[in-house]
Amino acid sequence: MEKIILHACCAPCASYPIKKLISDNFEPVVFFYNPNIFPFKEYEIRKNELSLYCQKNNIDFFEEKYDIKLFYNSIKGFEQEPEKGKRCAICFNLRLKKTAEFALKNNIKYFTTTLSVSPHKDFNTILEQGKIVESQTRVKFLEYNFKKQDGFKISRQIAKENNMYFQQYCGCQFSIRNNK
Ligand code: SF4
Repeated sequence: MEKIILHACCAPCASYPIKKLISDNFEPVVFFYNPNIFPFKEYEIRKNELSLYCQKNNIDFFEEKYDIKLFYNSIKGFEQEPEKGKRCAICFNLRLKKTAEFALKNNIKYFTTTLSVSPHKDFNTILEQGKIVESQTRVKFLEYNFKKQDGFKISRQIAKENNMYFQQYCGCQFSIRNNK
């Protein structure tokens, strides 16, 4: 089976994409790089839940260093943007770039992301950023829109069956504000 790096933001969102990639004859390698998540306690909860799920399902799991300063520097000037706006495009780019670099380092030809499972995220923005990163790194971004074919619903079912932690906001401190 061909390996693919799956950028993952949390366990509920990763559950269906892992299943789908395996059914498409890929071997997903889960990559947790989310410097956007605030506070650190929330980051740890999401990471640990995903790591446990991967362990239970014999999926390789890697974490890249949490660096929230890098996130704040990257989105400077766009703090007040609404969700699905420019701040999110930068946030996607940051995470996808690191994912593709990880793939490159490990001689893996493909990458994709669980971000597309969420109906709260704009697929075209994810796709656009994935393609930008692909052109910069030469690692192929696979255009999975995981919310299709009931992907979101299935991911929630798997999460419930596994008693996973469900977060109440996207991830950054600005999404907490938007969620109120
Ligand atoms: S709302 Fe979500 S996608 Fe947008 S910047 Fe915040 S964490 Fe990133």
